[in-house]
Amino acid sequence: MLNDAGRLSRSVEDYLKAVYALDVRGETASTTALAEVLDVQPSSVTGMVKRLAEWGLLAHVPYRGAHLTESGRREALRVIRRHRIIETYLTEVLGYPWEEVHDEAERLEHAASDRLIAAMAHALGDPSHDPHGAPIPTVEGKVEPATFDSLAEVAVGALVEVKAVDDKGATELREMEALGLVPGVEARVVERDERGSLTIEIGESDRRRTVEGALAALVYVAVVD
Ligand SMILES: [Zn+2]
Repeated sequence: MLNDAGRLSRSVEDYLKAVYALDVRGETASTTALAEVLDVQPSSVTGMVKRLAEWGLLAHVPYRGAHLTESGRREALRVIRRHRIIETYLTEVLGYPWEEVHDEAERLEHAASDRLIAAMAHALGDPSHDPHGAPIPTVEGKVEPATFDSLAEVAVGALVEVKAVDDKGATELREMEALGLVPGVEARVVERDERGSLTIEIGESDRRRTVEGALAALVYVAVVD
């Protein structure tokens, strides 16, 4: 279960993160859901979930999927903290574009030592959010709840603030940036057509832009007005 550095193995960390992510989205961490998120066969999920339950990191409730135990949740948040600090460091200090940091962080989050992460966080002034707007868990494992509506769901006429964006698709992140849909900006939904495409106005400018429904679903917002 532990590697040479006294840490959980990469695959264990990925499982805990996947259960955490499904839980945050309010979805059941079923075998099928985990297999899909982790891109593995359902048969290998069953074995791993059983082992993680034996190690006290997961509790498995029949038909209701896997849940993180207190120590499982703590480990998941440690990996997520590493991931988000690395993403922030790569953009802020090394000048990476925001669409290129997720894949790097997916690899480095398993390798970086606590000391390196602490040094990166310190150099960044202990940031609270990563470049995609996701909250960074503290060293103590506290994390701000981040349950927002997606831009695809808000009512026509609503003024919203972009809070976060999905960090996984490089193409989508480039499109969001080109549209100006980045955390912190305000946007008004002017229209939604029958295919789900939105017409929006961003910030002070009254220039209208079109956002495809699939892209809007990856932009998380809070309604301002
Ligand atoms: Zn990421």
